[in-house]
Amino acid sequence: SSKRKGRNCCTHFDIELARQNDMVFTIENQFQNAMSNNELELYLQPQVSMQHQRVTGFELLLRWNHPTQGLMNPGQFLDTVESGRHILPLGYWVIDKSLALLEELTSKGYEELTIAFNISGRQFEDKHFAQKLISKFKTVNVGSNYLELEITESVAVQSYQQVKSQLNEIRAAGIRVAFDDFGKGFTSLSYLSNLACDKIKFDREFGHNAITSVSTQNIVLSMRTLMDTLDYEILVEGVETLEHANWLKKNGFDKVQGYFFGRPQTKQEALAFYQQCNEKGALLDKDGNVLH
Ligand code: C2E
Ligand code: MG
Ligand code: MG
Ligand code: MG
Repeated sequence: SSKRKGRNCCTHFDIELARQNDMVFTIENQFQNAMSNNELELYLQPQVSMQHQRVTGFELLLRWNHPTQGLMNPGQFLDTVESGRHILPLGYWVIDKSLALLEELTSKGYEELTIAFNISGRQFEDKHFAQKLISKFKTVNVGSNYLELEITESVAVQSYQQVKSQLNEIRAAGIRVAFDDFGKGFTSLSYLSNLACDKIKFDREFGHNAITSVSTQNIVLSMRTLMDTLDYEILVEGVETLEHANWLKKNGFDKVQGYFFGRPQTKQEALAFYQQCNEKGALLDKDGNVLH
């Protein structure tokens, strides 16, 4: 478009667009090497049961230790990766790492812990995805621990016919499936009675607005009742304050995850937190206070 405008060239818009295209190009290119150069890392965020006062598992969340940009969160690069050609290899990389961690935890004597990993809806473009995941899973000693696949609920519902049979295969092999970000988009309620999943993760906003808005509160509580009836486990994401945790506890929510209990952190930090809770025989918040 600079040609079209001749020598005087670029509007602000052109420059901005060129910069964005450049960024996309750069991320797409650099991500190719990120996996092989060991620049990617999975952080662990604790998932807890308030009722049983224990850490029940960890969600693995992707971080990119970029050589010049420093530590990057998925928000800074995942959309680009998602629409490019590295998203499927990334999925398999995440799975290998998740299984290695599961195996390590089992060999170190950890019991009854869930390792949850995130997968793009695009992973199901691979018709053999379920089979590949299952055969990898079968090579690993999981002991009494669990593997859990998280897929965004909106993706799962949009392309439900394609993903449903693969999700059911995965569940039949003993891997759990959780639908992520529930309440963020539109869910057709007719789907709910027969979902190919074990767990529903209530989105941060959805859970959070329940404290301040009476109408959201009513919906959240009704959804909890409905999920109970349909026998899906619930986990509420994004619990940031004691007030929020207490509200959820009072209203019959058990499993939660959020900054109040712990941010996504390194494996060493996450396992130390787990040990601390175990030694105290209680659930601690991020500052080490016992949650009563
Ligand atoms: P998600 O799976 O819904 O993960 C939860 C996000 O909320 C994480 O952001 C987490 O750090 C953040 N979070 C957790 N607790 C709190 C809280 O109390 N308050 C607030 N404000 N935020 C909280 P993160 O790590 O930046 O990841 C963003 C998204 O990127 C994830 O959302 C997931 O959809 C995607 N993602 C992360 N790792 C992977 C991966 O390995 N593969 C794929 N395909 N996607 C991933
Ligand atoms: Mg998730
Ligand atoms: Mg989520
Ligand atoms: Mg999300």
